[in-house]
Amino acid sequence: MTTEPTHVTNFLRNIVEEDLKSGKHKTIVTRFPPEPNGYLHIGHAKSICLNFGLARDFGGRCHLRFDDTNPVKEETEYIESIKESVSWLGFDWGGHMYYASDYFDQLYMWAEHLISQGKAYVDDLTAEQIREYRGTLTEPGKESPHRNRSVEENLDLFRRMREGEFPEGSKVLRARIDMASPNMNLRDPVMYRIIHAPHPHVGDKWRIYPMYDYAHGQSDAIEGITHSICTLEFEDHRPLYEWFLENLPVPHKPRQYEFSRLNLTYAVMSKRKLLQLVQDGDVAGWDDPRMPTLMGLRRRGYTPESIRSFCERIGVGRSDSWIEMGLLEECVREDLNERAPRAMAVLRPLKLVIENYPEDRVDEFEAANHPQKPEMGTRKISFCREVYIEQDDFMEEPVKGFHRLALGQEVRLRNAYIVKCTDVVKDAAGNVTEVRCTYDPDTHTGGPAAGRKVKGTIHWVSARHALAAEVRLYDRLFADPNPSGDDWKSCLNSKSVEVVTAMLEPGLRNAAPEERVQFERQGYFCADMKDSRPGAPVFNRTVTLRDSWSKPGK
Ligand code: ATP
Ligand code: MG
Repeated sequence: MTTEPTHVTNFLRNIVEEDLKSGKHKTIVTRFPPEPNGYLHIGHAKSICLNFGLARDFGGRCHLRFDDTNPVKEETEYIESIKESVSWLGFDWGGHMYYASDYFDQLYMWAEHLISQGKAYVDDLTAEQIREYRGTLTEPGKESPHRNRSVEENLDLFRRMREGEFPEGSKVLRARIDMASPNMNLRDPVMYRIIHAPHPHVGDKWRIYPMYDYAHGQSDAIEGITHSICTLEFEDHRPLYEWFLENLPVPHKPRQYEFSRLNLTYAVMSKRKLLQLVQDGDVAGWDDPRMPTLMGLRRRGYTPESIRSFCERIGVGRSDSWIEMGLLEECVREDLNERAPRAMAVLRPLKLVIENYPEDRVDEFEAANHPQKPEMGTRKISFCREVYIEQDDFMEEPVKGFHRLALGQEVRLRNAYIVKCTDVVKDAAGNVTEVRCTYDPDTHTGGPAAGRKVKGTIHWVSARHALAAEVRLYDRLFADPNPSGDDWKSCLNSKSVEVVTAMLEPGLRNAAPEERVQFERQGYFCADMKDSRPGAPVFNRTVTLRDSWSKPGK
């Protein structure tokens, strides 16, 4: 494991600690069981940090298990992306990677075992009839007319289901438990259904496939899982999980525990919805930097450390809660504030010409890569007669409190001189296209008037040396904190990305894919890992320096 132990406890850590202390378990085994029908998202990160974190901190192990019981929705692209995301987050399954489909033979034999004990039967009711017969929370269910078939008949029918003799949907295998149980999950749940489709992992061997509820606990038992941790919606399934373990000759008895899933504002996390965003072209793919997927967050510039720190801060409990997107953003800000070197970049350039600065002269200044970390070194930046400044940093007629550049006012160009605006050039429409200035040659660092104070300091980039580059200004994907209901897409944020051609310090020309940097006064940015080319980086905005969403009115 490459990650550090956590120092934050929770009820599951307490349980594990107890179990080790009391000798109930000598070592603990957990698992992270994604269904390979989509990319992992930030909610999965909570589960990964919990399961792999427990194994790490208590000297156990955590398995990565693909829960691939449904052959039709799964793709190898998803399997690869899941492996990549778990590793990227900093966790290692240490050779313990499994597929639920590895256990299909064993599960099949156990199904025959239940049949032979009179505890499972083949039912010919349609899916709709089964639903009708199940009853409601207030009314008991009705027994299927096929519920009392003989063991021999059931075995024969089940084997013929396996051989592919019957059409899809015509028969299922059900556990024979209790149609009057107050727990709907125990009203003879379906164990196997007929699907005439090959399986991406085990090929075309099967015409019947186990349901999640039948496969999951037995997979845990086969792997020797001690603590099978899932989200709260499976709490009502726990009696069924235990029923199968009680009634089968399993080698080991795992226990299921539940915790509350992560809900995040300004995001959707269901894979069905994420897939819809991809299919409808609302985003450029599962790894679009606006997606809450781990691959999306990675491209956006999130560090694994920031996501692990987020998971640690939100904690693990059993009550439903919503977490503010602002907290996730704050976690990456804090991490990048420490590690990202600083650079100057002008996102919306406005040319500034210094009339009293010689045409062919170039000054070189030394700039700190991090204001609080001298160990991160310095870099040389070039200054010349023409520089770019941010359009926003200039107002012809300044409003009250505007301390940046304005006609007749002075401002400091960061790491360089104080300049004073003397004139502006406008286009036919009256827009300012250039500002004219004079500079005070004594005001650079080390100069005789270096300490002269002006109210504002702005960033800039030398026009002659600047690197023009594509910069994508990402923002939240949704404009509403809770995108829900049928029209959950209606609150997609129409300004979730703006693409600009920015002027960057030339030193950024060779930024490696995934290199992270703070553009001073703007935010944290990351060289896109897919679209950057040698000498031509593309930058994604990870997050602005301050949270602009928490202000009232936005
Ligand atoms: P979806 O409902 O979006 O399809 P899922 O829960 O079916 O998600 P799985 O691939 O089955 O997704 O999940 C793998 C593991 O991750 C499960 O143990 C599940 O409980 C956990 N998990 C999924 N979403 C969250 C979440 N939002 N918060 C915490 N854990 C989650
Ligand atoms: Mg699922």
